[in-house]
Amino acid sequence: MAKQIIIEVEECMGCGTCSELCPDVFGFNEDEEKAFVKKPDAVDEDCVEEAISSCPAECISIE
Ligand code: SF4
Repeated sequence: MAKQIIIEVEECMGCGTCSELCPDVFGFNEDEEKAFVKKPDAVDEDCVEEAISSCPAECISIE
């Protein structure tokens, strides 16, 4: 199976960092204050690594 970007939504603190750094790949649900993945197959985009290392909850991963 192809690699995919995953967010452990229960762990998300709602800081919005991932969607700021990488708006094409991550979205932000204002109502739930949780991030979501817009483009799960965008594993090669540079900003994805940046978002993973910047996430304070360490809840973004590639599987
Ligand atoms: S950076 Fe992490 S904690 Fe912040 S909104 Fe994105 S997934 Fe949630």
